[in-house]
Amino acid sequence: RTVTICCGTGCLAYGGAKVAQAFRDEIINRGLASEVEIKTTGCHGFCERGPLVVIRPENILYQRVKPADVPQVIDETVNGGKVIDRLLYTIPGTKQKVTYEHDVPFYKKQMRLVFGANGYIDPTVIEDYIGCGGYAALSKTLFEMTPDEVVDEVKKSGLRGRGGGGFATGAKWQSTREAHGDPKYVICNCDEGDPGAFMDRSLMEGNPHAIIEGMVIAAYAIGAHLGYIYIRNEYPVAVKHAEKAIAQAEAMGLLGENILGSGFSFSVKINRGGGAFVCGESTALMASVEGRVGEPRAKYIHTSEKGLWDQPTVLNNVETLANVPLIINRGAQWYSSIGTANSKGTKIFSLVGKVNNTGLIEVPMGITLEEIVYGIGGGIPKNKKFKAIQTGGPSGGCLPASKLDMPVDFDELTRAGSMMGSGAMIVMDEDNCMVDIARYFLSFLEGESCGKCVPCREGLKRMRQILDRIISGQGQPDDIELLENLSETLTWGALCGLGGGAANPIMSTLRYFREEYEAHIIEKR
Ligand code: SF4
Repeated sequence: RTVTICCGTGCLAYGGAKVAQAFRDEIINRGLASEVEIKTTGCHGFCERGPLVVIRPENILYQRVKPADVPQVIDETVNGGKVIDRLLYTIPGTKQKVTYEHDVPFYKKQMRLVFGANGYIDPTVIEDYIGCGGYAALSKTLFEMTPDEVVDEVKKSGLRGRGGGGFATGAKWQSTREAHGDPKYVICNCDEGDPGAFMDRSLMEGNPHAIIEGMVIAAYAIGAHLGYIYIRNEYPVAVKHAEKAIAQAEAMGLLGENILGSGFSFSVKINRGGGAFVCGESTALMASVEGRVGEPRAKYIHTSEKGLWDQPTVLNNVETLANVPLIINRGAQWYSSIGTANSKGTKIFSLVGKVNNTGLIEVPMGITLEEIVYGIGGGIPKNKKFKAIQTGGPSGGCLPASKLDMPVDFDELTRAGSMMGSGAMIVMDEDNCMVDIARYFLSFLEGESCGKCVPCREGLKRMRQILDRIISGQGQPDDIELLENLSETLTWGALCGLGGGAANPIMSTLRYFREEYEAHIIEKR
């Protein structure tokens, strides 16, 4: 049997490392080391129930396990084959216990293509990744495909960037491949900074080799020989696992000079970000890698032509790159059969806020918000009424109950006044004040604005002041109109995406919850 213990950051915070140590000690003390394998894995996604322990091959899921529970788990389940009821997951609002991981509603309705390996492999052991088919896509790329064929395959798959922009990945690779300039670079953006988002961190912590494999394939496709992983420094486990994965891949000839004897060379370096939200923007990120202040620049010339050190550069998000080995292994046709007309594949979302089952989920594009909130998330705690879901991070929008039947994809979310963004989803119930929610996201962006351009630097401050006075009962009759005018100026006048999307929380709450703004103003009068 194998006992897997989740040691992603969420479960570590609940004491996952102590649980893992208790299992190791117990197995050694009982002389079971040759029969029972103890494996620490990355995040499974069901973070609020951690530390999570899964006994395989049966896939018995135990939640909120403590070191003191370990002897009983060894005695009764590992040795005795019996299930311990008190450690099982109970469906909220019922007394129904669920034994197997794949039967828990949170997991059952997901499609875990990119994220699934996280619960099975030890991210610090390259053999685990290779054992589940890892680096096969790289080998296929280097020995069976030309760079143009790789670009074509990614284009045909319909993969779009998972970091926020939703730009077609294959088209981006093609522009960089065709751009004049040498050297060229590949950058992996792991500067995830949206409140409530932790998809990229969990992927980098739990399956760093998939991201490295995706980077090497991208490098081969565009003709780059050096790449950077830009990770925010607040992600220490992700940094540690990425460093270890790079060293292991180099030692096995999967990175560095003459990869697998193919004649192709590519190296990866890690660059730690200081935690500025704006450094997730492509030009600011590249400035930061160059050692300059992380401020965006106008993109009259795309980074695919003049990016890092003014050289052609592909910048892809962690999740985008983790999709690439899947596409090469299983083919563009298979990949593009999942999802909607213009949004292919799956998407990882962090589902947080007023919802019973919080954590990371991976679902096919096109799933409805209702299936996410109620089918996977288990509904709203204490049977309260759903009020809104905020998607797309701080520059996203708040969608009301009338949008619950909406299929989730890049275009539908934008049409509804929100966005896919990097995949943060925050659920709100009847107790939340939507004006206050808009102010929260606006204040976050005000604090993170780099201050380079006036509409963002001044506009955000003025809008926050107006929201302050509306919430404190000092709102003026023309405040709503003023907010709308400032939102429009900000959207069209800001230099980068941070300012360009900053008015979305206000515009979407004005669109769907205008009466709450009016009530605040009228109450005062
Ligand atoms: Fe800086 Fe905001 Fe202007 Fe972007 S929009 S460059 S964050 S001031």
